[in-house]
Amino acid sequence: MQILENEPMNKHTSFKVGGPARFFTKAESIEDLKTAMALAREKGLLYFILGNGTNLLVSDKGYDGVVVTLAGVFSAIEDLGNGVFNVGAAVPLGRFARTTLKQGYAGIHKLAGIPGTLGGAIYMNAGAYGQEIGNCCTAVSVLDGEGNIRELTASECGFGYRRSVFQKKLKTEIPGQAGDDKDYAEIPGQAGDGKDYAAILSAKFQLEQASAQGKSVEDLEAELAECMAKRKASQPLNRPNAGSTFKRLDTGAADTPTQIAPGYYIEQAGLKGFRIGGAEVSTLHANFIVNAGGATAKDILDLSEHVQNKVAEKFGIELKREIILLGF
Ligand SMILES: Cc1cc2nc3c(=O)[nH]c(=O)nc-3n(C[C@H](O)[C@H](O)[C@H](O)COP(=O)(O)OP(=O)(O)OC[C@H]3O[C@@H](n4cnc5c(N)ncnc54)[C@H](O)[C@@H]3O)c2cc1C
Repeated sequence: MQILENEPMNKHTSFKVGGPARFFTKAESIEDLKTAMALAREKGLLYFILGNGTNLLVSDKGYDGVVVTLAGVFSAIEDLGNGVFNVGAAVPLGRFARTTLKQGYAGIHKLAGIPGTLGGAIYMNAGAYGQEIGNCCTAVSVLDGEGNIRELTASECGFGYRRSVFQKKLKTEIPGQAGDDKDYAEIPGQAGDGKDYAAILSAKFQLEQASAQGKSVEDLEAELAECMAKRKASQPLNRPNAGSTFKRLDTGAADTPTQIAPGYYIEQAGLKGFRIGGAEVSTLHANFIVNAGGATAKDILDLSEHVQNKVAEKFGIELKREIILLGF
């Protein structure tokens, strides 16, 4: 297993920014993963499991720890029959969604345009167009901090809107992680009990045949095509970004009770196109920050904080970051 030193993280994040990871490695097996964790322990460092880096802002000074990506045994989709699938954490979410769509399964096909891995999707409870990965998930297999493999039921995973129990545990280990405790579901005896959720290994799903919903594969294809067209029309896909910067609100401001999209408030605050250094609030979608050329992580973070401050000033609304921070 190759261990790289000072690997530039701008090569591994969709924002195309981020300084070096002190150590960087690819785990192709559970043994590799344990070796990476042992390396971190031996050096007195933290470790971080990286998916596709599509929801991640890594600081300009980098990450003084061990970054681990998954491949090999974590890249398999096992079809266990009757709509049951066991999917490795490194599988691109789009591959899983399209594979099952072609077999006539509904439930996650609208997620095909999300550019992350299955592991990142479980961690974030990724979702789009009314579907969420947690909805069809029945169990998640994890490696804990003591090197044991454990299986959590879906209810133990604490899935909520862009939320899972894995965030709560990992947040306490990684200073600077996004969010705060009230963002996460409290699962007694699970999170924070000393048995770390070191890594998500795979997840099981139960999908339903589209025919049970009166739909054909062609209907699913058409629904997906519509979602992809909406993405293309509304998202700045030609510029490096990390998807939505802020989470949807629970409720809108008092005078606009139906507006729960952060982009609405950002636009109303006159921030579309606003720039700090090379970071820009997208002119196409105000809840996206793009690297308009030469942005640093600091530019992006400063811009996101500026947006939070302006929206709070104008509407009294607190925007919560969806993007995960590393190394700040
Ligand atoms: C153009 C664009 C569009 C997007 N659209 C959407 C959308 O519609 N809906 C949506 O929800 N998101 C969207 N996103 C955001 C992002 O793609 C998702 O959050 C995705 O699930 C992140 O997956 P990732 O593999 O890239 O995770 P990363 O960004 O690599 O990591 C995110 C977090 O997950 C953790 N993680 C990843 N893998 C594991 C693992 N195996 N074990 C433990 N922890 C792990 C990381 O440690 C990190 O804390 C979009 C992003 C972009 C760039």
